[in-house]
Amino acid sequence: MQLIDNQYFIQNQNVLEICKKFGTPLYVYDGAKIEEQVNKIKSAFGGVDLKIKYACKANTNISVLKLMKKLGVELDVVSPQEMKLGFMAGFSPEQITFTSSGVAFEEIEDSINHGVIINIDNLPTLEKFGQKYGGSVPCMLRIRPNVEGGGNIKIMTGHKDSKFGIAIEQKDEILAITEKYNLNIVGLHQHTGSDIKDGQTFVDAAAVMLDLAFSFPNLKYMDFGGGFKVAYKEGDIVTDMEDLGVKLTTAFKNFCTKYGRELQLWFEPGKYLVSECGFLFATANVVKNNPRKTLIGVNSGLNHLIRPMMYDAYHEVVNVSNPNFAETNTYDVVGYICETDNFAKERVLPIANEGDIMCFLNAGAYGFTMSSNYNSRFRPAEVLIYQNQAYLVRERETMEDIVKNQILADF
Ligand code: PLP
Repeated sequence: MQLIDNQYFIQNQNVLEICKKFGTPLYVYDGAKIEEQVNKIKSAFGGVDLKIKYACKANTNISVLKLMKKLGVELDVVSPQEMKLGFMAGFSPEQITFTSSGVAFEEIEDSINHGVIINIDNLPTLEKFGQKYGGSVPCMLRIRPNVEGGGNIKIMTGHKDSKFGIAIEQKDEILAITEKYNLNIVGLHQHTGSDIKDGQTFVDAAAVMLDLAFSFPNLKYMDFGGGFKVAYKEGDIVTDMEDLGVKLTTAFKNFCTKYGRELQLWFEPGKYLVSECGFLFATANVVKNNPRKTLIGVNSGLNHLIRPMMYDAYHEVVNVSNPNFAETNTYDVVGYICETDNFAKERVLPIANEGDIMCFLNAGAYGFTMSSNYNSRFRPAEVLIYQNQAYLVRERETMEDIVKNQILADF
């Protein structure tokens, strides 16, 4: 979002006009930013056979998925429903990986029946898979490398106490099942966590995986997960993609030489691709002077963007209606949900008035996809700006959506 002559723009679209046209609360995504992020990864890993598998749990709007496909990005899904959204967006089965996490075996069968490759995360499922398919269906293994990384304990997945993946110390059991059923293991996968700023964490996790890889002669892919850190505010440390590119490319190429074959290197980023592209716009319903603080209460809440309340996530706030910092105040920005519902605390912002449009940055990842109808509120509309055109890509919900599937008991 750029400030030009005191007005905010996303590409050539005037933000206040977009909010007027589509109403608030409103999610807006900048397609150009998605493309920029995709290109950063591609350019840092130009030296290897790279595939980006977008972890679409971050944002499953089918138009966002369609844009990913246009950009040459493939998909990582975590449910049959995400898989079907991928198909609707135009992905073919071989472009989709199902990274399962303790799912019912029927979901694994379903993805196999659709021709989607499955990434298995536990030994009992691997055993069942072996019994049913043996080596007739290729599969991948999700390994827990016991490497710590991530911005917050709730988003760390690679450590010793994490529920995710098959622990690396169970290597012998993995190999025993593989041998027993003559399994065709074509890929190894790990995902350490989210918001990882230190590139060394990726290098450490990759080292564990590359070491394990020598035990599997049929590999085609090594998936090093997602979790790249983006900036939430000015000065934030982010994953240094160029540096990571150099370090991992070197390690990967050395591995491939020893392994005797070039493998494909996969990443499955979510936030890195879509966090910064997204903006949640909401209108100030009330500016309230409490004796201890001044609150801006907006027409949105944790039902639309739960990250601040769930992870203490930081979202920069911009008063789009008043960009003038000559006169400021310190505000808490809160939602309209009947629950403690903070978006932001103690932010110095230009003077806010009722009716002002407030914007929450970094709202493209885990924003809409984690939204709910709590307090029986409607979920927002979504707009994607692509090549200077604003596309409405999801309508605002209505009362029909709230009562859909409800049955008034016949008593
Ligand atoms: N891969 C897996 C298996 C995940 O669980 C997640 C996020 O939870 C991701 C990729 C994407 O993480 P991020 O959005 O931090 O890149």
